[in-house]
Amino acid sequence: MKKFYSKEKLRKLRNDIPIGPLIADILGIPSKISEGYFRFLCPKCREFNTATNPETNLGRCFRCEINFNPIDIVMNDKHYNFKEAVEFLDNLHML
Ligand SMILES: [Zn+2]
Repeated sequence: MKKFYSKEKLRKLRNDIPIGPLIADILGIPSKISEGYFRFLCPKCREFNTATNPETNLGRCFRCEINFNPIDIVMNDKHYNFKEAVEFLDNLHML
């Protein structure tokens, strides 16, 4: 099977595309700042019981108890598979 992206490239897509702007500006997922946290509508449970951590570049849903990195959030929001999500992020040319 042909390898389509290097480990380093995947690491950059996960770490270097800022999760907040990706959620709010690029994907257009409803979001808000409350109690100092950037929160977003969870694409799985559709609730705002979420937060993002700029240090880890992860979004977390406390209700679903899952973390979303940039690849995960694209997969969930757009119903893409892993490869499609990676291509979507790469095509943003943000790196
Ligand atoms: Zn959720």
